[in-house]
Parts: sequence; C-alpha cells; structure tokens
Amino acid sequence: MKTYGIVGKNISYSLSPCMHNAAFKMLGMDAEYKIFDIPENKLDDFFSRLRKGEISGCNVTIPYKEKALDYIDKPDNMVKAVGALNTVVNKNGVLEGHNTDFEGFINALTGSAEGDLNFEPGGRSVFVFGAGGAAKTVVFSLLKWSPKAVKKIAITDIDINKAKRLANFVEKQDHSTLITVVGDREQYNDFISKSDLLVNATPCGMKADDPPLFDYRYIHERLFVFDLVYARNTPLVKETRLRGAKAINGLNMLLDQAAEAFECYWVESAEHHDKILTAMKKALIENIKLIGL
Ligand code: NAP
Repeated sequence: MKTYGIVGKNISYSLSPCMHNAAFKMLGMDAEYKIFDIPENKLDDFFSRLRKGEISGCNVTIPYKEKALDYIDKPDNMVKAVGALNTVVNKNGVLEGHNTDFEGFINALTGSAEGDLNFEPGGRSVFVFGAGGAAKTVVFSLLKWSPKAVKKIAITDIDINKAKRLANFVEKQDHSTLITVVGDREQYNDFISKSDLLVNATPCGMKADDPPLFDYRYIHERLFVFDLVYARNTPLVKETRLRGAKAINGLNMLLDQAAEAFECYWVESAEHHDKILTAMKKALIENIKLIGL
C-alpha cells in the first residue's frame, strides 16, 4: 500500500484526508492518506522518508509551506515565483514541488461550474483583505493569470507592515501591475467602489461572531466577491448576494487544489478529473457537517 499525507503543525482538523481517501477509494487504489502533525525538528526525518519512497507524496500546510523548499529538488514555476509550495511528489527519487493553491484559486475564480465565480481578471482592479500565506497565492495567481494580468491590486491587513512586505515582495518581481497598500479603514469605501473583485484572504467570517471586515453598505452591484473561508457562507458572501452582486466561498478552491495535488501524485488520474472532484466534494461536505465547522 502506498502512503500519502499532509504535513504541518496543529493540523488535526485537516479535511485533506477525507478528500484524498475518497478519491483513492473511488479509483480502487491501494493507497492511504494520513495526517503528519509534526514539530519542525522532525521535518528532516519526514522528508528523508519521502526521499526513500516510504511516503510517496504529500501536501504541505501551515507553517511549513516555505520551509519545505529546503527539501525539494525541482520547484515548478509558481513555487519559484511565490516562494511557497503545498505539494511534494517523489518522482523516481527526485522531489518535485508544486503549488496547486494557485490552480485552485484561479479555477474557482474564472470557472463557470456551480460554486465558481466566472470572473475574468485581465485588466481589472482587485482589493485583497489579508496579507498572509493565502493572500500571497491570490496576488501571484492574479499577476500570473494568462493571457492578461490584473491592472491594479490593493492590499490591506490588520498588520499594515505585513501588507507592505507583501507589496514590496510583489513589486520586486512585477512592474506592470499597480500595487497599493490601504492602511486606513476610512479609505475602504473609496477602494471598494473602484474595485471589480474583492477577495477575503483573512479568517474573518469563520466564526459567527467575527466583526465584519468592512461596512457591507460599500458593496456595489458590479462587485465580485471571493471569500476564501470554505466551511460556510460567511456574512460577507450572504450580504453581497443580498445586494445583487456575485459571491462565492472557498469550497471550490479547496476542492480544486486537492484534485490538482492528486493529479501530481498520480498523473494518469487526470482523465478521471471530474469523477475525482465529485468524490472529493461528497466527502468534504459530509466531513464539514461531521466536525461542525
Ligand atoms: P494567515 O497566514 O493567518 O493570514 C491571514 C491574515 O489576515 C493575517 O495577516 C491576519 O492578521 C489578517 N487578518 C485577520 N483578520 C483581519 C481583518 N479583520 N482585517 C484585515 N486583516 C486581517 O492565514 P492564511 O493561511 O493566509 O488563511 C487565510 C484564510 O484563507 C483562512 O480562513 C483559511 O482557512 C483560508 N484559506 C482557504 C483556502 C481554500 O482552499 N479555500 C486555502 C488557503 C487558506 P493577524 O495574523 O494579525 O491575525
């Protein structure tokens, strides 16, 4: 039996095993997907097991998405740009690093399936709340989107220095997109009114009593909203829809990054993409209910 898994710290809540194990089962594969919840001093050991083939592939999550770069031989282009990965595969002794969060975000943003936003980013203006790991993926996905990148990105975070660091990191690599840091809540209305897309890349909305990110009266009908929180339709998603604008949660992104990672593990499975997504979605929804997120 082949072993796969997700490596991170304090990740007992992870929904990745339910999705991947459902896909293995549906395809009749002799494989299992486990949680490797380990401290940093056990990472050497974990990746040496991966290199020896005891573990065939893994997803990487908080807080090791950047640290894992030290262990791989071949990063893909997105990993090189973002400086973070979420999937490692052992291909004949070579450890390949991938970033499928990128595809997960772009597919849900631009796709037209149920739960996708059907938004075309080229030449548009975007306001991103949050400047952590997920925001970094969002910003780079928007910049690297082909055929045409977004025109403007505004970033804000509770910790404004974090937003500034992300903006500086992006500006070093990209010169065609205007990056602005929004440090003052008073400016939110102005920026939202000029935005085509608003992305929530903060955990705000995960808990029922979270205060709103901004005054929902600023939402206008042309605005598309992508809330990365996947466990529920947050008040942001609901309020946007109530105002006649389009909004999605992070469920399709989560599913898509998992399906893309699965196809990195087992390239031949790409021909079963739709069946894999369906099996993963069913398992994910059942488990979200089960753990009562
Ligand atoms: P993170 O690294 O902790 O980054 C979140 C950032 O948002 C932090 O800098 C945080 O500041 C800031 N923040 C929190 N509340 C804020 C507010 N009200 N206004 C402005 N900034 C605020 O977390 P992450 O890994 O990027 O994840 C962010 C969210 O995306 C989580 O809900 C996660 O579940 C979701 N996510 C979804 C997917 C998916 O596939 N759908 C993938 C990745 C992440 P502090 O650190 O000071 O609190």
